[in-house]
Amino acid sequence: MPMLAPFPGSSAEIYDCAIIGGGVAGLTLAVQLARAGRRVVLFEKETYPFHRVCGEYISMENYDFLCRLGVPLAEMELPVMTRFTVSSPSGVALHHPLDIGGVGLSRYRLDQLLAQLAARCGASIRDGTRVTDVVFADEQFTITTADGATYQARLACGAWGKHANLDGKLHRPYLEASRQDRQFVAVKYHLQNVDFPADMVQMHNFRDGYCGLSPVGDGLTNCSYISDVRNLRAHGNSIAGMERQVLMQNPLLRPYLADAQRQGTPPLVISQITFRERSTVEGHVLMLGDAAGTIAPLAGNGMSMGMNASFLLHPLLLDFLENRISRPELEQQYTRAWQRLLSLRITAGRLIHRVFGQPWLTTAGIRVLKRASCY
Ligand SMILES: Cc1cc2nc3c(=O)[nH]c(=O)nc-3n(C[C@H](O)[C@H](O)[C@H](O)COP(=O)(O)OP(=O)(O)OC[C@H]3O[C@@H](n4cnc5c(N)ncnc54)[C@H](O)[C@@H]3O)c2cc1C
Repeated sequence: MPMLAPFPGSSAEIYDCAIIGGGVAGLTLAVQLARAGRRVVLFEKETYPFHRVCGEYISMENYDFLCRLGVPLAEMELPVMTRFTVSSPSGVALHHPLDIGGVGLSRYRLDQLLAQLAARCGASIRDGTRVTDVVFADEQFTITTADGATYQARLACGAWGKHANLDGKLHRPYLEASRQDRQFVAVKYHLQNVDFPADMVQMHNFRDGYCGLSPVGDGLTNCSYISDVRNLRAHGNSIAGMERQVLMQNPLLRPYLADAQRQGTPPLVISQITFRERSTVEGHVLMLGDAAGTIAPLAGNGMSMGMNASFLLHPLLLDFLENRISRPELEQQYTRAWQRLLSLRITAGRLIHRVFGQPWLTTAGIRVLKRASCY
């Protein structure tokens, strides 16, 4: 049973685990720990449901995992994607079947479903709550939130995504190293009334970036892209200007962007994306999802990485909470498991990411692949 000891000098309870960040990584971890009977608190600065920048393609690799957690994917009539098209900036295209395929589901729905599930399993979900500090002392963590409240926990997990205020607080080395790196921006919106195949993912390259299109159900098509920040700056920081002058130079992408109706609010934009290597443990906080390593969107499924990390981490957290392993053993075993299973994907992603968006390399690569392919 979970430990419920009072914190010295306060009436607050001590959580077994505090999870900071409520994307797929944090939420799937919360469900697994709460289901194992552990006292879990999860902090999310936004309020569910909310949209976020993501291609919203869920690899079949995680389909069964999500179903086992209790997300009723089979009942949701989601688009199932089995075909892939990739094009070079000049519009040379390669069509291919997808190896294992995936389904389309908006993060607006997925994250809310997971948050509801975690709450039903007994986790305390504090959305609309931004964490401003996390400090380890005397074998426990004190977590401070923007409203000045503090919480105590035996374990703390960082699932706060690509970058957050807490990376700076923890002085994570990747921050300093990445100052010299190329910086990227990512943009996402949903298109409506476009004639887009329900079983296809498309990836269209443009100069210094690429754009993915895929169905997410309810007649909507996800359009999300990543671009070198120089493209945006060169067009006066105007998304519309950059799309007109850069993305629409790809003739296969142009019709979607030119004619499409965009649903709802203006495009969501995130900046300062880097793909630097990061640590899996910092100040005894165990990192998972993008906080442990951000994979280039083209090269893999970041959501899979986050879910896989939560799956690796949760039994180790239980071993620690049930006194089968010490904190140093927990940190070492998690780091080893993460590196064995996930770090290769990030490295491969970084290499692919470097090639894509470079016009002649992408065109040459696609021409070679076309010749070698029967499609
Ligand atoms: C353009 C683009 C397209 C992509 N397409 C796909 C795709 O199709 N399929 C796929 O699998 N992956 C895709 N990815 C990657 C995927 O979106 C990420 O890998 C995934 O969202 C990572 O999940 P996460 O839980 O680690 O982080 P996130 O989903 O980013 O969640 C982190 C959460 O932490 C919260 N947070 C941050 N700081 C604090 C704080 N101080 N206090 C409280 N909360 C905090 C944030 O609000 C956020 O909700 C794409 C990425 C990009 C950029």
